[in-house]
Amino acid sequence: MSHKQDTVMKFQYTAEFAQSLDAADTLASYRDRFLFPQHQGISVLYFTGNSLGLQPKGVKEAFVDECDDWATYGVEGHFLARKPWYSYHERFAAGAAKLVGAKEEEVVMMNQLTVNLNLLLVSFYRPQGKRRKILFEAKPFPSDQYAFASQARLHGFEPEDVLVELLPREGEYNLRKEDILETIQRLGDELALVCFGGVNYFTGQLFPMQDIAAAAHAAGVMCGFDLAHAAGNVPLELHDWNVDFACWCTYKYLNSGPGSVGGVFVHERHVTNPDIFRLAGWWGHNKSTRFQMGPVFDPIPTAESWSMSNAPVFNMIAHEVSLGIFSEVGMHALREKSIQLTAYLDFVLQTVMDKTGQRLTRITPDDPQQRGCQLSVIVEGYDRKLVEVLYKQGVVVDWREPDVIRLAPVPLYNSFEDVYRLGKVLETVFSR
Ligand SMILES: *Cc1c(COP(=O)(O)O)cnc(C)c1O
Repeated sequence: MSHKQDTVMKFQYTAEFAQSLDAADTLASYRDRFLFPQHQGISVLYFTGNSLGLQPKGVKEAFVDECDDWATYGVEGHFLARKPWYSYHERFAAGAAKLVGAKEEEVVMMNQLTVNLNLLLVSFYRPQGKRRKILFEAKPFPSDQYAFASQARLHGFEPEDVLVELLPREGEYNLRKEDILETIQRLGDELALVCFGGVNYFTGQLFPMQDIAAAAHAAGVMCGFDLAHAAGNVPLELHDWNVDFACWCTYKYLNSGPGSVGGVFVHERHVTNPDIFRLAGWWGHNKSTRFQMGPVFDPIPTAESWSMSNAPVFNMIAHEVSLGIFSEVGMHALREKSIQLTAYLDFVLQTVMDKTGQRLTRITPDDPQQRGCQLSVIVEGYDRKLVEVLYKQGVVVDWREPDVIRLAPVPLYNSFEDVYRLGKVLETVFSR
């Protein structure tokens, strides 16, 4: 922890101070648009929006509407439903493009995250000759690592021969930008792909995506990002950053419910390129001839050509509601609050540490430009039972082995007072 943020703003660890920040917060009213889990009859202090975002109000009604349309129209609902199912995924083009900084032709909602990552790896991990390696950050989400390994095997390689996990320097928790760029340059023509998380799920480090993409391209290699912890957390400009592909889930910061539909970005220079191989299905086929049911695949000249199956409408309903809120608020306003709210959390944790003597080591970078809203903290001397102790006090956080709690104050629905009250609970727990 450091007191660096005190130079940005003089924070205080009092209820009045936290309430005064809430009173000045122009996004404060969005809290009322979400349903908070209850513990002993009161709303919990929810700090796990990085794992499963809260339910926006209106989702239940949207489900009922869709059930009604299904009952009313049966198969005709494909065209007659209030939100026609045939083109349901197209409803997301504008909102998803805005969310990740893309053109509408570059995004599509389909499947779920790991499926999409695998599909994109089929297109963009094309080892040839000496170029075989995939470079990724230390401690990627295990699902991504399994996907990389299975793709390596698909091409007949042993994962340990081609997967390169870039570790931080001895004694450090985060990767330095210069080390990432230098490694890409050094591996050069052995690389077949650079694929990082946008924000690492464990440390919360936000990577310099534009620089990584540029370094990858300078080395003659494609570059993709898994944005599971970045989408809805930090502003993204995938098109301008020249990212080749990306995928994200919608149940974390995007509040669209468990297992909700995933998102895909493919840069426009690839979507019409017939040399980019893609696995095919009828939902990627030219819409004007789709129902002629011909035998030959004619890809839509957009990212939609990666979609195979008709839109999973019931897995998209909550996202429709939720993405509407993001379009309304905008990532830049959210980010402004996020930086301040996260700095306040950092300050509160530091204060709790000073008051109780409990050692808390933040492994998320200090620099707001290198993190989103999540702070990951090593809590010395505790194990995962800490999470249960906190839950009994109405606080929801999560635990990652061996000794880390992750805390995400989400700017859409967390308040400064939530952060203050979290501090108070931690203070009592650590003072025992
Ligand atoms: C949450 C998360 C996943 C989960 O994958 P699903 O396919 O949605 O179950 C995968 N990768 C990363 C980086 C994640 O953060």
